[in-house]
Amino acid sequence: MRPFELGEVPALSRSTVDRQETLRNDPERLTARWPDARLVVVDRWGRTPVRLDAVDSGEAPVSTRKAAEFAGEPPVEASFLGEWDGVDHWMLPVDPPSESDTIELDGGWGVRQEVPVSADEAWLDLRGHGALLDDTSAGLLTTAEALRNWHHRGRFCGRCGSEVTRVQFGWASHCTGCGNEEYPRTDPAVICLVHDDIGVNGANVLLARQPVWPPKRYSVLAGFVEAGESLEGCVEREVREEVGVEVGDVRYLGSQPWPFPRSIMLGFAARTVSGAALTPADGEIEEARWFSRADVRAAFDGEHDELMLPGTTSIASVMLRSWAAAEQ
Ligand SMILES: [Zn+2]
Repeated sequence: MRPFELGEVPALSRSTVDRQETLRNDPERLTARWPDARLVVVDRWGRTPVRLDAVDSGEAPVSTRKAAEFAGEPPVEASFLGEWDGVDHWMLPVDPPSESDTIELDGGWGVRQEVPVSADEAWLDLRGHGALLDDTSAGLLTTAEALRNWHHRGRFCGRCGSEVTRVQFGWASHCTGCGNEEYPRTDPAVICLVHDDIGVNGANVLLARQPVWPPKRYSVLAGFVEAGESLEGCVEREVREEVGVEVGDVRYLGSQPWPFPRSIMLGFAARTVSGAALTPADGEIEEARWFSRADVRAAFDGEHDELMLPGTTSIASVMLRSWAAAEQ
């Protein structure tokens, strides 16, 4: 029996795009290629259009636009995402669709979400619907969201407070006051599936719910890495703080960018003693419980009365599916 691994690539870690980072400093070449480029358009809520008849396919392509129809050369607000299939792709912020019907889609956790529809296109957001996109589109939109959020939040210099301008086609900022250059930041957060010590992979998994979540919703534990902290140290601290349990055998499973606004989720597994008493942290954790593998399998099949699991776009969903599929 082997320790379980992630059985699939997390939805937002799928990417097929060649980032071509050297082109960010080659304006002549990028500008010359612009007329043939495609645009991933994103509105202020991070939504991008997808053809309505592709939404349910499970591998929907984002509906890109022709760059040449928007401008003769790259506008300052456009960001270069990379090359795929011989074509440059850019992100361009646009206004939301002018209304619009709506359709209802699963927004994760079994919650129905209203999605605007305009000109036979549904405008989907990455967090709720990233798992519905094909590999290339998921990668493009994840990078687009990371840059868009950074541009939106990082408008002033972190050193002197002056306004910044965008350079390197969206990938750096230049301070108009002191000349400082900054690059998009990513904040690491750990997310850990804690199982008990029955067999190699445990018979039960520790899940918890936050007070603001709808009833029955549970997930694995997660938290931001603190300054000066190792990832393993963060896993041990978060589990101790949130449910009062000591864990060992901390091991890395995989990662997923989570650009809402600028995290990367680093997935781990850890073990603790069977039947360990759980003490939820006041205000942070409403309830923590042990669930069996049969419980988790039933919940994924929508057949559990007391357990609703994370949406398919999250790495938590992949971690739990992989654990549930493994043998004890
Ligand atoms: Zn400055």
